[in-house]
Amino acid sequence: MARTQVKRHGWIGRLFFTDLLAGLRLTLGYMFGKTITHHYPDYEKWIPYQRHRGHHFMNTNDQGEVNCVACELCSKICPCDCITVIPFETEKGDRRPKVFDIDLARCLYCGLCEDACPADAIKLGQEYEVATTNRATLVVHLEDLIAAPRKATNGGKVLPARLDPEGGLRSVTRLGTEAVGQDWWSRIRKGK
Ligand code: SF4
Ligand code: SF4
Repeated sequence: MARTQVKRHGWIGRLFFTDLLAGLRLTLGYMFGKTITHHYPDYEKWIPYQRHRGHHFMNTNDQGEVNCVACELCSKICPCDCITVIPFETEKGDRRPKVFDIDLARCLYCGLCEDACPADAIKLGQEYEVATTNRATLVVHLEDLIAAPRKATNGGKVLPARLDPEGGLRSVTRLGTEAVGQDWWSRIRKGK
């Protein structure tokens, strides 16, 4: 039955170009809809969805120790060879990273390190503002990764950015906070 419906829909669709008309309707809707300008980076900042692969962070356990067991799997699988892991053994006999560096200038944010990690340690978050004029600062260390923003729960929202409406500076809303913002996509659809 379902197959018949699909066939009939396909036949009707081919005869009356319904797919083409649906596509044109959507395109024309955007062409003649209200233009939306995203005032980034001054007034608005878009938070990507959780599936976004941005700046890495390192998970820690309840005792504040990094989850990383310095197995170096992430370093081995990284196609850009941009992860440096040097292990050491703690007094308790645990294997931990003495050095854990990622060169973000070489990283292509593929997420393979996250996929390979057996300890739920290295993750890619939604932070994307890593531009700099000093390439050396793009090498992030273990302490940077521990302090980096976790997964933001408000993905898809637009938050106030660094300037207030009068042009004054304000503290930037960090990703992962629960600040209430506008929903970017619903705003586009409704043309607000
Ligand atoms: S995201 Fe990809 S390129 Fe970047 S550090 Fe991880 S494995 Fe390497
Ligand atoms: S982050 Fe994960 S994969 Fe990389 S060294 Fe640590 S435990 Fe191994």
